[in-house]
Amino acid sequence: MIEGLLGLLMQAEVMKTQISVQDTVDSYYVEAAGSAQGHVVEVSYDVATKGEVRGSLEEFRSLVAETLNDSRGWIRAGVKFTEVESGGKMHVLLASPAEISAASAGCSDKLSCTVKPNVYINDDRWLGGSDSYNELGVSLQNYRKMVVNHEVGHFLGHDHIVECETDSGLAPIMLQQSTGLRGCQPNAWPLPSELWVRGL
Ligand SMILES: [Zn+2]
Repeated sequence: MIEGLLGLLMQAEVMKTQISVQDTVDSYYVEAAGSAQGHVVEVSYDVATKGEVRGSLEEFRSLVAETLNDSRGWIRAGVKFTEVESGGKMHVLLASPAEISAASAGCSDKLSCTVKPNVYINDDRWLGGSDSYNELGVSLQNYRKMVVNHEVGHFLGHDHIVECETDSGLAPIMLQQSTGLRGCQPNAWPLPSELWVRGL
């Protein structure tokens, strides 16, 4: 058990090294001021569809895995994501707008939404992105990574950030970038100040 933990911590050290190599090639990356806080939180997750969706489950599953395991993502907050067939701590769902609005009074059929343990990614947005990103010519893949990181951020205990006041000018991942960038630059990854988790 202890050896397993040590192994994970060592992996985290390796990731930190890899991050500094990557930032020269990706404008969406911002250097972490404080990375993993020395312990690893394991989050198992499963992937499925909910309601009638047009998006491909396999494409969805693949992008979710790529995003959650990316060295610019929540793993920098010390989270280790493991995909399981079923019974995960977190359910990542490609969902129809109707299913999302039915999930909670706080959810809208126009947006993605998280009602723990369910992370609902809106099928319409998955296929079409958001005006805020499309107007700037940001790729659909980047929009998808942003929305997955934003909703998983809710699962990890984050609420919204409502203002763009960052040194980098990049939008916090917990800003609702789908509804408007509020003067920020689009950003698909958590900022250094957002690298924490709560209530897991
Ligand atoms: Zn949100």
